[in-house]
Amino acid sequence: MAVSARVSMTKCTQFRSLFKLFSTSTYCRAAPNLRKESYEVSHESIFTEDHAELRKSLKKLIEKEINPYVDEWENLKRFPAHEVFKKLGSAGFFGVNKPTKYGGLGLDYSFSVAMAEELGSIKCGAIPMAIGVQADMATPALIRFGSEELKQEFLVPSIAGDVVACLGVSEPGAGSDVASIKTTAIKKGDDFVINGSKLWITNGLQADWICLLANTSGGPLHKNKSLICVPLNLPGVHKARNINKLGMHSSDTAELFFEDVKVPQSYLIGQEGMGFPYQMFQFVEERVFAGASVLLSMERLIFETATYCRERKAFGKSILDNQYVHFRLAELQTEVELLRSLVYRTTDLYMKGKDVNKLASMLKLKAGRLAREVPDSCLQFWGGMGFTSEVEVSRAYRDNRLLSIGGGADEVMLSIICKYMGTFPKDQQLF
Ligand SMILES: Cc1cc2nc3c(=O)[nH]c(=O)nc-3n(C[C@H](O)[C@H](O)[C@H](O)COP(=O)(O)OP(=O)(O)OC[C@H]3O[C@@H](n4cnc5c(N)ncnc54)[C@H](O)[C@@H]3O)c2cc1C
Repeated sequence: MAVSARVSMTKCTQFRSLFKLFSTSTYCRAAPNLRKESYEVSHESIFTEDHAELRKSLKKLIEKEINPYVDEWENLKRFPAHEVFKKLGSAGFFGVNKPTKYGGLGLDYSFSVAMAEELGSIKCGAIPMAIGVQADMATPALIRFGSEELKQEFLVPSIAGDVVACLGVSEPGAGSDVASIKTTAIKKGDDFVINGSKLWITNGLQADWICLLANTSGGPLHKNKSLICVPLNLPGVHKARNINKLGMHSSDTAELFFEDVKVPQSYLIGQEGMGFPYQMFQFVEERVFAGASVLLSMERLIFETATYCRERKAFGKSILDNQYVHFRLAELQTEVELLRSLVYRTTDLYMKGKDVNKLASMLKLKAGRLAREVPDSCLQFWGGMGFTSEVEVSRAYRDNRLLSIGGGADEVMLSIICKYMGTFPKDQQLF
């Protein structure tokens, strides 16, 4: 049975040291002298014992219900989303910061970030990403702007884990340039009639509904779009294919086609024509999620690399004892701590109602680059072993490459930062 966040959140027990998170490697024994001092999550300014307790519950669920099956699901190129999401939903993890009247835990946003961070203890990138789509990417606009009827129909079952959600922004002809999407939703009678296609849709093959961005009028590109909840079992919806990818193997990534798909106009989220700003709002939470969810996996790689290098000998001494190696790992750990600080600071300001678009873009940029740098450097120290598919470092090397592309490429993040700095050329369009 899934470990319940609902139950464990009622008591605060002492939090375990982060050290324990790293002790599950199948490839190397934990070296006794690595990382002596325990790291107390509850000592962080945005976290309390309650956050630590939530993380502990999630960690237990991951160790029991997810990690033992990750290798199998990666090989199958798919994980059973409905089965896994039901376990997470029953334990409360899709409703961490969602209102209790919709089945959520009613906690603040910092608990959602604590959850995102703990998802990094899953031994691949694909499943945290799939969970993140449902928890933090396809639903924030629905909660904030959706009608009561829409929340009952789409949000409540998503929080319970009874359905799988996905987010449909990107198209074959428009990824970075969101404003230029071509999918249309035209009013006819009481319905919208949807035509177009979406590409790269995470959870797309298994999803029951999509939070779809479509053009609902012919006006200016930033004012002609709307977000619409679209069930994916309707006539005219075609789930074309599961795209073969470099990494994120257990996540299904679909191409979807919409051919005269009819949905009631009441499925519109919030106001018509506000889809672009609503989606920019959703991107902020997506980017914070992206940064938070890679912290633990990068630390695990650094730790396991240190452990491996301590045991592995070359030229009569342990590889770890070369100053270049232990200094490099120390540099990487320092970078991870810097990213963590940026994630927590952005979270704190976001909860205070500040505009964190610039900071969220900075942390997404930093996360994308660091998530590539850490496995690349660590893989080097594993030598030939690092090049095999037997070790987690090679999976992270493949999976983490996505972070600089998905959810806004590095260059898009740089453009947003430049806009805030006032250095973006005035004659160029970004939004
Ligand atoms: C595995 C995976 C899962 C995904 N999941 C989803 C999902 O669930 N829902 C969804 O809607 N989308 C999803 N995406 C799409 C993702 O968000 C897009 O791939 C991303 O936004 C980039 O768009 P693009 O691929 O069309 O690249 P393009 O827009 O064609 O850009 C290609 C490259 O050009 C460069 N570039 C672009 N703009 C600029 C600029 N202004 N200045 C300088 N350089 C620039 C960048 O290097 C960029 O990587 C997913 C993608 C992948 C690969």
